[in-house]
Amino acid sequence: MKIVPSLTDISQLTSSWKKQGQTISLVPTMGCLHEGHLSLMRKAKDMGGKVIVSIFVNPLQFGPNEDLASYPRQFVIDCELAENEGVDAVFCPENKYMYGDSFQTAVTVSKLSQGMCGKDRPGHFDGVSTVVAKLFNLTRADSAVFGQKDFQQLAVIRQLVKDLNFPIQIIGSPIVREDDGLAMSSRNKYLHGDSRQQALCLYSSIIAARELVTESRDKILAQTVIEQTKEIIARAGAALEYAVLKDESTLLDDVVVSSDSILVLAAKIDGTVRLIDNGRLFPD
Ligand code: AMP
Repeated sequence: MKIVPSLTDISQLTSSWKKQGQTISLVPTMGCLHEGHLSLMRKAKDMGGKVIVSIFVNPLQFGPNEDLASYPRQFVIDCELAENEGVDAVFCPENKYMYGDSFQTAVTVSKLSQGMCGKDRPGHFDGVSTVVAKLFNLTRADSAVFGQKDFQQLAVIRQLVKDLNFPIQIIGSPIVREDDGLAMSSRNKYLHGDSRQQALCLYSSIIAARELVTESRDKILAQTVIEQTKEIIARAGAALEYAVLKDESTLLDDVVVSSDSILVLAAKIDGTVRLIDNGRLFPD
C-alpha cells in the first residue's frame, strides 16, 4: 500500500492507474479509523478497481470552538487497518499544501447545507464541500463511498456532484454500530463510563420511534415522534441539538410519518461530545 502525502504524487499515481485502464474508488475520512470506515473500504473494494483512502482532518469544516486540535489521530494504526483491507493508497496531505496561503475558494451547496448540522455548525458544510471537491479533482476517482451516518453530508455531496457535473458515482453505505447500538464514530473515543452510557440515548430514541410507529394503527404526526425523542434525550441527561423527521427521497421535513421517514438527530453528550445518528422508522 502506498502512503502519499503529496498532492502532485497522488495526481501522478491516479493518472498512471487511469492509463492502465483502472477505475478508482475513493473513501474520504478524517482518520482514527473504525469498523464504520472499514465497511466503506470494503464497498470501495467491491467496485473492483483501485481504492484510495484519504486521511485528512479538514480544518475548514471545524468551527472556532470545535475540537480540531483535540480530534483523535492515530496515523500508524490507520495505515495498518487500511492495508489489511487491501487499500491501494492512503492519501494524507498536509494542511499547508491543501490550503496554501493564497487559498480563497469555497464551494457552497446553499439550501441543503442549512438546518440540522448546518445550523449548529455554521460553515461546516462549505468546508466539507470544498475539501470533497478538491479530493475528487486530485484523485480523479470514478466512485466515492460515504457513510449514511452523516445523513446531511451525503445529501450535500450528492447535490454538489449533480450541480457541478463531477464525473463520479456516489455510493451511500449503511451505519455500522457497536453491539449495544451506538453508531461508531471517531468521537466515541471521548466517551467513558457514564458518558458512554448516556450516548446510547440517540439509538434508543430511534428504536423507541420505530416502536411507536409499528405499534400504532393510526397515522403518526412527526411532532409526536420528535416530542418522544426530546423526552428520551432529556431523561438521559444529554442535550438535544436537533431532531427532525425527513423524507428520505425528497429530503423535506415530514409532517406525518411515512414509509420513507427517517429520524435524524444530534445531541451533546456530557455537555461536550457532539454525536449524530439517524434511522429509518419502517423496516427496509
Ligand atoms: P469521518 O472520518 O468521521 O469524517 O467519516 C468518514 C466517512 O466515514 C464518512 O463518509 C462517514 O459518514 C463514514 N462513517 C463514519 N462513521 C460511520 C459508521 N458508524 N458507519 C458507517 N459509516 C461511517
